[in-house]
Amino acid sequence: MGKLIVQKYGGTSVKSPERIKAVAERIKSYRDRGYDLVVVVSAMGKTTDELIDLAKQISSNPSKREMDMLLSTGEQVSCALLAMALHEIGIDAVSYTGSQIKMRTDGNFSNAKISEISTERIFKSINEGKVVIVAGFQGIDDDENIVTLGRGGSDTTAVALAAVLKTRDCEIYTDVDGVYTADPRVVRSTKKLKEISYDEMLELARLGAGVLHSRSVEFAKKYNIRLHVRSSFSYDEGTIVMPMEEMMEKFVVSGITSKEDEAKVTIREIPDRPGISARLFNELGKHKIYVNMIVQSTGHDNRASISFTVKKEDLKETVRICNELNKEFGGSAVDYKENIAIVSAVGVGMLSSYGVAGKMFQVFSEQNINIEMISTSEIGISCVIDSMYSELAVKVLHKTFIESE
Ligand code: ADP
Ligand code: ASP
Ligand code: MG
Repeated sequence: MGKLIVQKYGGTSVKSPERIKAVAERIKSYRDRGYDLVVVVSAMGKTTDELIDLAKQISSNPSKREMDMLLSTGEQVSCALLAMALHEIGIDAVSYTGSQIKMRTDGNFSNAKISEISTERIFKSINEGKVVIVAGFQGIDDDENIVTLGRGGSDTTAVALAAVLKTRDCEIYTDVDGVYTADPRVVRSTKKLKEISYDEMLELARLGAGVLHSRSVEFAKKYNIRLHVRSSFSYDEGTIVMPMEEMMEKFVVSGITSKEDEAKVTIREIPDRPGISARLFNELGKHKIYVNMIVQSTGHDNRASISFTVKKEDLKETVRICNELNKEFGGSAVDYKENIAIVSAVGVGMLSSYGVAGKMFQVFSEQNINIEMISTSEIGISCVIDSMYSELAVKVLHKTFIESE
């Protein structure tokens, strides 16, 4: 067996027959250098969005099982086409769906977590001299229903495969040539990072930097896999995601990001006594509602207000639950706001610096941007603001923390 590498090609990288042929040529160049390859592919171009749109035209509330059944087809198309493209240039290859390699998950439709992968079939094919192509973003539950891993989940398929196949190298091919200090589509003067730590990348991915699926970074950190994020349109070196200890340079702020897929809910003037928050968040947990930021403010008369953010798709359900609890608690009102953005600055250098939060709030104040919620971690600061200021906020924070440093 040669040295094994796992590669993942995203939607833009396989968006057309020409692009698929170009990917096949790149794989051949690795094959010519003696590598064994396991290649994960996303659906072609915007296929997943188109499939979602198709479902919406049939039903406003499609069954989650059928939705996953539908969305998984996109990746099945691209992996078969890539196998054909490889055959055309004389490379032996075989494609597999998630179910064919027994990619087991927790069964949570539309956002499943991988629990186990069988390597038997993959190694058998590699030993037969084949390039193995795996459909990204999909797995199965205990009853062999098809489930998907959440949008952008093909990255996680690739890293999970690298982990079970025990290789340290995983290349993520995309339409940018690495991880930048901000989304290059938003900030023009953004800079490419040569390297970034798992922790920073994880924080950035969770906080909206769509370049990597956050769970893929979790796996990479856990199994010490070096992720190389690079472009399928060039042969340039990209960004290496690696352990913090191995990094040459550490920045106070290495990235600015924003996300707009959450909404803010506030439940006002509820009793300020033990057990209230537990009741509220346990109830949301029971309904599998993921809560992100939480802020409690105490008012007068032993009353408090609690604001928190949830995914926009869970907003309706959250407001319904809060209205019921509000009656039980005797609170004054439940309100919500959908047009919010969570804007964040992330960097390992924050561990040993002070004044970053103050500087960030100062930038917002100079632009007259009101901060509605704040949360911090060891290496990140996030503010909820009105979504109309999201781009402006990212640009000014980038200028302050990255361009002027
Ligand atoms: P793929 O289909 O290859 O997985 P994605 O669209 O999921 O590609 O991810 C690549 C995109 O991520 C880029 O085109 C870029 O606009 C966006 N992006 C967001 N934040 C960043 C960042 N900090 N660095 C690089 N790209 C970013
Ligand atoms: N095709 C899926 C999506 O568009 C998964 C992926 O591309 O990673 O979200
Ligand atoms: Mg992606």
